[in-house]
Amino acid sequence: MTAAAPGRRWLFADQLGPQYLDRSDQPVLLVESRAVFGRRRFHRAKAHLLLSALRHRARELGDQVIYLQVDTYDEALEQVTDELDCLQPSSYAADRYVRSRGITVLPDDRGFATTREEFSAWASGRKRLLLEDFYRWQRLRHDLLMEGKDPVGGQWNYDHDNREPPPKAATLGLDEPWWPGEDDIDAQVREDLDRWERDGLASFAGEDGPRWAAATRWEALASLEHFVGRRLAQFGPTEDAMLAQDPWMAHSALSPAINLGLLHPLECVHAAEQAYRDGLAPLASVEGYVRQVIGWREYIWSIYWHVPADYRTRNAMHATHDLPEWFRELDAAGEVTANCLRSVLRALRERGWVHHIPRLMVLSNYAMQRGWDPAQVTAWFHESFVDGYDWVMLPNVVGMSQHADGGLMATKPYASGGAYINRMSDYCKGCAYDPKVRLGERACPFTAGYWAFIDRNAELLRGNRRMLQPIAGLGRLTDREAVLAQERDRGDGPP
Ligand SMILES: Cc1cc2nc3c(=O)[nH]c(=O)nc-3n(C[C@H](O)[C@H](O)[C@H](O)COP(=O)(O)OP(=O)(O)OC[C@H]3O[C@@H](n4cnc5c(N)ncnc54)[C@H](O)[C@@H]3O)c2cc1C
Ligand code: SF4
Repeated sequence: MTAAAPGRRWLFADQLGPQYLDRSDQPVLLVESRAVFGRRRFHRAKAHLLLSALRHRARELGDQVIYLQVDTYDEALEQVTDELDCLQPSSYAADRYVRSRGITVLPDDRGFATTREEFSAWASGRKRLLLEDFYRWQRLRHDLLMEGKDPVGGQWNYDHDNREPPPKAATLGLDEPWWPGEDDIDAQVREDLDRWERDGLASFAGEDGPRWAAATRWEALASLEHFVGRRLAQFGPTEDAMLAQDPWMAHSALSPAINLGLLHPLECVHAAEQAYRDGLAPLASVEGYVRQVIGWREYIWSIYWHVPADYRTRNAMHATHDLPEWFRELDAAGEVTANCLRSVLRALRERGWVHHIPRLMVLSNYAMQRGWDPAQVTAWFHESFVDGYDWVMLPNVVGMSQHADGGLMATKPYASGGAYINRMSDYCKGCAYDPKVRLGERACPFTAGYWAFIDRNAELLRGNRRMLQPIAGLGRLTDREAVLAQERDRGDGPP
């Protein structure tokens, strides 16, 4: 048994910032559980980041911490005699576990700016839980970009300015996000992961390149400062655009640090607002960033706890295909021809991260078009992204991207053909397919796949006014049967 003082705080791997302690000398328990890497095939960069962040926190805390490297949580708890408490875990599974073990759960969600009670009070009596309403409520109550009760600049929303296609150049020409240097802890993590793989204890997808995401509070603050000072000003206009040679664009790449609890969302938006007030970044970019963090992120977190228990298993589009191997393995064998999908899977393989639009309009769009099982798609996103956690996956994948909840979160499926990708990226220029062609050798798998998707789901979607136009468009296709046969043949193979 490990001897220790009473009143020990068990910190989970996504509770690593200072705000998770009540006093600076509070005794802490940190647990590194190996079994989780044996159960699921995570991206190796994700396993690296999590272990590196946990071990760095343990080193910072020194004698204050009991750091246990075990197979399971049960094994860890057998070694700790102190009374434990913890802060609200971020998943249903962890919540159930700690409660079943009699651990005191304090209700605060210190990685977010919205408590469940606040969200429930806001949601109560509303017919629809619209993001825009939620976002304005957040702006007002947190006094962000406000002048009294009015939004700074007289407008709540600069989406109109923030939807530009990419520039003609191959990159935005910005500095890359700030990268931390690795240290002895990272080297040890690599050695351990190699050994676990060799011994058959774990198996990973993707590459474990130099660690780019922050694993410590200091690194997280440096990343935030760099983003606000060097990249935030350009965030807005090309927020939705994609460039094959510029995976970061002007995105913050701070989601891993925020989701590890190393940055608080409010400190991120306060820093962004200050940049606007100091004249260092235009309002449209700052508002765009604030909307993502204090609007979308908080909304997704709140929806996770708000939706019914069966949400996880919803499959409104009756999508039942298994995820194909080439997709699971992030096209490691280089089998994909479609330039957009190939480039995005390569970037994901290399870093465990791509920005929002490739996630939604390339990866998820393809999965939905092909009818892949939403539960499998959810698990794949969780495992493949360095910033993936249960709370963020359910609403984003089941709701937003796969329409598996039947429209609770999005008024229509986020399905689109190659024309959207062509407008918002430079992928199509270098592609063997043509976004305007739906039949024959050059038929774009997204364009043809879109029509196959509409055809397969026409009956389900007919009740949705926003889908009537595409359904009517499908009826006008003279080559409809040939396109459908072609897409049946393409099936789930690498496009
Ligand atoms: C299918 C799908 C899967 C996603 N999976 C994840 C995930 O595993 N983890 C994750 O943090 N985000 C996820 N997102 C949301 C979003 O894509 C990422 O937060 C963002 O791309 C992270 O990069 P960034 O930090 O550069 O973001 P920026 O473009 O700089 O945006 C700023 C911040 O806004 C927040 N944010 C914006 N949109 C969302 C959203 N929809 N949900 C949650 N936070 C949001 C993030 O904290 C992000 O850091 C997913 C979106 C989709 C459509
Ligand atoms: S033509 Fe189609 S497959 Fe090729 S990059 Fe464009 S959208 Fe992707």
